Amino acid sequence: MTELSNRTKFWQSQDAEHHLHPFTAHPGLRERGVRMITGAKGVYLEDSEGQKILDGMAGLWCAQIGYGNEEMVQAAAEAMRGLSYYNLFFMTSNPYATELAAKIAEKTPGHINQVLFACSGSEAVDSAYKLVKYYWNLKGQPNRKQFIARERAYHGSTTVAASLSGLTGMHPQFDLPIEGIHHVGPTPHHYKFGGDLSEEEFCDQCVQAVEDKILEIGPENVAAFVGEPVMGAGGMMPPPEGYWPRIEALCRKYGILLWCDEVITGWGRTGEWFGSTYYGIQPDIITMAKGLSSGYQPISAVAMGGDIAHEIAKSDEEMVHGFTYSGHPVACAVALKNIEIMEREGLVGTDEAKARIAYFREKLETLSDHPLVGQIRTVGLLGGIELVKNKETKELFPDELDVGFKCREHCFNNGLVMRHVGNSMILCPPLIITNDEIDELVEKARLALDLTAKEIG
Ligand code: PLP
Repeated sequence: MTELSNRTKFWQSQDAEHHLHPFTAHPGLRERGVRMITGAKGVYLEDSEGQKILDGMAGLWCAQIGYGNEEMVQAAAEAMRGLSYYNLFFMTSNPYATELAAKIAEKTPGHINQVLFACSGSEAVDSAYKLVKYYWNLKGQPNRKQFIARERAYHGSTTVAASLSGLTGMHPQFDLPIEGIHHVGPTPHHYKFGGDLSEEEFCDQCVQAVEDKILEIGPENVAAFVGEPVMGAGGMMPPPEGYWPRIEALCRKYGILLWCDEVITGWGRTGEWFGSTYYGIQPDIITMAKGLSSGYQPISAVAMGGDIAHEIAKSDEEMVHGFTYSGHPVACAVALKNIEIMEREGLVGTDEAKARIAYFREKLETLSDHPLVGQIRTVGLLGGIELVKNKETKELFPDELDVGFKCREHCFNNGLVMRHVGNSMILCPPLIITNDEIDELVEKARLALDLTAKEIG
């Protein structure tokens, strides 16, 4: 990197002095100095040294319509001018929250028709967990309090959400998980966890493991199964063919609620409005955040359908749950505008959107000839590049080589954000990305792969 400007150095020292970062080991960060992102437009970020960076991760999987959209600025300003804040307690609402709830009910699959707002994905997950418990209490089945989730799932970082997460590294620092949560293996992703089994056999194994767990706990004690349609933060891992309809069938067989955590897969990421539609299932509960507002405002929601929505909505007693900022008018106005833009610009489900997804897949697959690349996988505009030492045996590089991290650093230093989870490089570009920008992304990814191969020798 070139000589850093004074303002960058100033921010770095201030940051090192006072600022704790999420999911970060601080000594390492302070040693190298934080990178300041100072602006963003379309699919590009700009840092405090004026470097332009193609954001292959849409922020943290959220900027569906890209950055700096002027219509969004106007929507936020208008809402803030007219109604900067009011709450939803005391039998009040605001037009933005009410209209957004109706819009979510329209866009979500199947019978989903009641919406509760929160501010982050984790808050939505914690809320859904509480509402599921409340539902079973209302139904007179208070014994149904056990939740089944998957190994390597990510559901957020508040106490319940981190407990539901099956990334075990998240637990010891905080004495988690809480009781009543069961993580079932194997992780439903064939390439990494299928061993010698065919995809079909592996799918059988994944589904059977859930059924075994249900029977072990006792079906009458199980409240819900929760899963990400495509596992995201665990390493962009799509499930084996046929997995989700079979999980849905298991839930129906045992009367268990099916909860899809669509914080990443919601709002167009898979090519459908929701990942559940992509996999042809109808969950009882969907948690969502990120793409709901394209990250322009922090907002999330729990959307419920069928009996759960009915039971909670018809109960005469007060539902003792909610947040000061549930249905914040500015956040809801921005989310409504975001959805309007996605609809108007045909970012989901149109021929143009399908062509963009096909181009993304085709271009990314050109990287499969690279010596470091074991697998390329895509679902909609989600992409994963698996780094391996041996393409045939899928042997991985030793952890201490930190190949994924090295590759990520080469990306960043050459103007591309690509995230890594272990040996998996992950892509999740804004849905507005053009073919030229996809070309640039893939070119930069290849350069980073070349530099990584050179570095590890
Ligand atoms: N659920 C899933 C599936 C996620 O991917 C995430 C975040 O990446 C969350 C929940 C937590 O969202 P937040 O970071 O907004 O709390």
